[in-house]
Amino acid sequence: MRAKGIDVVALSTGEPDFVTPAHVIEAAHAAALQGQTRYPATRGTAPLRAAIAEGARANPAEVIVSTGAKQVLANAMLASLDPGDEVIIPAPYWTSYPDIVALAGGRPVAVACPMAQGFKLTPEALAAAITPRTRWLFLNTPSNPCGALYTEAELSALAEVLDQHPDIMVLADEIYAHLAYTAFRSFRDVAPALRDRVLIVNGVSKAYAMTGWRIGWGIGPRPLIDAMTAVQGQITSGASSISQAAALAALTGPQDLLAERLAVLRDRRDGVVARLSAMPGVRCPVPDGAFYVFPNVEGAMARLGFETDGAFCAALLEHRQLAVVPGSAFGLPGHLRLSFAYSTEDLDRGLSRIAKFLGAGH
Ligand code: PLP
Repeated sequence: MRAKGIDVVALSTGEPDFVTPAHVIEAAHAAALQGQTRYPATRGTAPLRAAIAEGARANPAEVIVSTGAKQVLANAMLASLDPGDEVIIPAPYWTSYPDIVALAGGRPVAVACPMAQGFKLTPEALAAAITPRTRWLFLNTPSNPCGALYTEAELSALAEVLDQHPDIMVLADEIYAHLAYTAFRSFRDVAPALRDRVLIVNGVSKAYAMTGWRIGWGIGPRPLIDAMTAVQGQITSGASSISQAAALAALTGPQDLLAERLAVLRDRRDGVVARLSAMPGVRCPVPDGAFYVFPNVEGAMARLGFETDGAFCAALLEHRQLAVVPGSAFGLPGHLRLSFAYSTEDLDRGLSRIAKFLGAGH
């Protein structure tokens, strides 16, 4: 539509609108000029793995650096799943989770976590989903698409269930850890007794506005990290050496910008939630982390005669030129995902378009 000259507002992508910090770009430039242009070690450069390990109070041997957090997930699944192994994925989930599991021959098992329970997995729902084939539990805190953030008590309650099931591994995707509006707790710290079966996934993409640099990492038990390194060695080898130098500068350089940017995001979040909540047929919980709101629009869908959230989003795009993502893409229909990592001007225009679509004026 844009190519045809149509003025489309998109609140649909999962990346910050901020720029990569200048000192990070300069570090990449310097690294390239200094000759860091050859194959890096498959599991990541020593300085970057050391910085990651230090931040997580881990051993560098427990760290792998990959081409984005996405590759960490793929490596882990390819390295560990046998055909038909089950992976429990709380829904709503990031869209790639089930597909990565399926690509590796596993069976994704979605467990519905409705809005009424804060979009979070309860210990009861976890226990009910476990079978003898369960190999992994995925946890994403703060969450894409809904911003749910697990408290220490909630993580401990899940860890208690897992205590009874020593064969189940936990993949805690904490890529939005720095984007938390209330206290963030890492599963690795909350459940130290489970450490030999927890893989933490993180990276620079979201916190440091570095989605294009493609650097993520995993922190986990050494046998798993070794197996993931073997997989990565046959698929991509080490992640870009220049990007690793940039990621090192991001982790070891000034950190004030994280708090500054978080404050900007919090203001945008509050504005977006207030406006959406005032619209008829829309219920919008306040996300505790990340940069997405995930309002329930079932009331609006029923009133306007839409049977699916996909049809609702398609009409919103066609009639009001606004792109957002339907909840069904994340395994929980009846919702929309809007990113607020956009300028206030774009957010303003986008929200006015929803309001008009719902017949609620400007
Ligand atoms: N995990 C979650 C929950 C995400 O939302 C994303 C990106 O959208 C990723 C992982 C992938 O991150 P990366 O860009 O580092 O591959």
